[in-house]
Amino acid sequence: MEARLFSQETTVVVFVLGGPGSGKGTQCPKIVEHFGFTHLCAGDLLQAEIESESENGTMIHNFKKEGKIVPSEITVKLLQQAMQQSDNKRFIIDGFPRNEENRAAFENIVKIKPEFVLFFDCPEVELTRRILNRNQGRVDDNIETIGKRLKVYFESTLPVINYYNSKGKVQKIDAQRSVDEVFEDVKSVFAKFKPVARVDSTK
Ligand code: ADP
Repeated sequence: MEARLFSQETTVVVFVLGGPGSGKGTQCPKIVEHFGFTHLCAGDLLQAEIESESENGTMIHNFKKEGKIVPSEITVKLLQQAMQQSDNKRFIIDGFPRNEENRAAFENIVKIKPEFVLFFDCPEVELTRRILNRNQGRVDDNIETIGKRLKVYFESTLPVINYYNSKGKVQKIDAQRSVDEVFEDVKSVFAKFKPVARVDSTK
């Protein structure tokens, strides 16, 4: 596919981070609905790649099963492709970057810095409770993998959040409250983006 370059001036990227189970997948569709962003979920793009039985699929499956982070180049290329296929210029990217290498790869390949990072802050015990409740047959929602994912989150993803925090780019939300209460805070963070009735891809 021909590479479309994104310009920092016209493209808005918001990274949505937080531990597994912190509510990223719950809140992102609400942001889409209210503020006309396109939601790209790194995990879903990887899952689709697994299901397409592509060359990379088995490898991705094995990384996920181990609770490990998939190599940056694969995830960034999938995100870039999805951005290129969209008419929208506003993206919320959920569950990415998971580590410093992911972050650097995105900035080097896509060449866009995030407008800000939406960080769902949630205690570990609540994350575990929610993931075990989610129980939607995900290969990584079991007690063994959850421990590994939480470890990866604390060791690899928190440094990314700290990095952006040092740049003044983190919008931290207390994610332990109800879905509606959390969304009230999310709305005020996105207030500068005009609310829309629904997403319209006709530009
Ligand atoms: P993530 O995408 O961050 O892994 P999800 O949005 O899938 O998290 O949420 C994990 C589980 O917790 C889901 O079953 C979801 O319904 C539930 N959940 C999400 N937000 C809340 C909340 N604020 N309070 C209680 N449960 C929640």
